[in-house]
Amino acid sequence: MISYGKQSIDQDDIDQIIKVLKSDNLTQGPAVNKFEDSLGRYFNARYACAVSSGTAALHLVSKALEWGHKDLVITTPLSFLATANCIEYSGAKTVFADIEQSTGNIDPNAIEHKLKKLNKFKKKVKAIIAVDYAGHPCDWKSIKYLSEKYYVKLINDNCHAIGAAYLGKKSYASSYADIVTQSYHPVKNITTAEGGSVLTNEKKIYDKVKLLRSHGIVRKNEKNNNWSPWYYEMQQLGFNYRITDLQCALGYSQLKKLNKFIKIRRKIAQRYNQAFHGLENVFIPFEKNEATHAYHLYPLQIDFKKYKISKESFFELLLKKKINLQVHYIPIHLQPYFKKKYKFKNGDFPNSESFYKKEVSLPIYPGLGFKDQNTVIRSLLKILNV
Ligand SMILES: *Cc1c(COP(=O)(O)O)cnc(C)c1O
Repeated sequence: MISYGKQSIDQDDIDQIIKVLKSDNLTQGPAVNKFEDSLGRYFNARYACAVSSGTAALHLVSKALEWGHKDLVITTPLSFLATANCIEYSGAKTVFADIEQSTGNIDPNAIEHKLKKLNKFKKKVKAIIAVDYAGHPCDWKSIKYLSEKYYVKLINDNCHAIGAAYLGKKSYASSYADIVTQSYHPVKNITTAEGGSVLTNEKKIYDKVKLLRSHGIVRKNEKNNNWSPWYYEMQQLGFNYRITDLQCALGYSQLKKLNKFIKIRRKIAQRYNQAFHGLENVFIPFEKNEATHAYHLYPLQIDFKKYKISKESFFELLLKKKINLQVHYIPIHLQPYFKKKYKFKNGDFPNSESFYKKEVSLPIYPGLGFKDQNTVIRSLLKILNV
């Protein structure tokens, strides 16, 4: 079965994990620091805190920024649920702003529209969480401008765009956003099995995230050197969101290969682009001039109505050829939880909804060979009868 995404693990990754298994520390040993240092260097962030998942990273951000019941946070409907759920965990209210059709990213105009309206009603918007959908960086210049104009914190849920570039820089994320979150789930561009991180240049945020990662506990250190040897203090209500040394050894080894992984992803995308561009009512992923797409996903948009085939039968026909596509995403506002709580209905975010109707994610990952790429291309063209 060819699936839409898959990890790439080589012998070197395996050797690194075995080394940790034979060492004294399976968790919270030197591999965590080593991975965090390498993340900080690669993404040019002063502070990196590795955690147990991308969702944990987002949750910790909502806690570190102390969102509460009176607060609002703006985000995109076209993302994985965790992006909005971190707002819900905190008790704050989720406000969606629609996407731009070209990239699937949150539209700065839609953000400003919401900010203006909420300002008028004296509602406190605390933050914007933007997602670099599929691996294409958002319009960070415009979003940054808005965050400064309206005094809101800016978060990049960067889970898709690990290894992407904006205005030529792979370290763009933490230079525009106050906080960046990543995930290293096996389908993402690098993996630690489960895992994630929070990147920031602000020491205060980093300190809070680090404290909350492990139960809010402070142990003996340089500052409180007079403490008894066994003594520790719980200063805040934290979590166990720690990542293990095993995972971090894998992460360190994977990060060294990220540039190579992105090159291969871009090459596969190029082949798909060549195969599908120019087809009527089929839209290949858009890449803006200022962006270098990381192609975590290859979101192809097909106007199924024009091809007189339902998306369901399209999926089933490909499944018969052992090709398992995915769809990214069912717009979050249409999920029963959000619909019920906020009284959302169909048509509230038309761009996200029409994107969802047309979108299919084609298989893309470094291990997807030339033959499999051909199988995907041929099967797809055959089913569309072109
Ligand atoms: C994968 C992903 C997450 C969640 O990451 P996990 O590590 O699976 O918890 C959050 N946001 C986006 C955009 C993602 O793609």
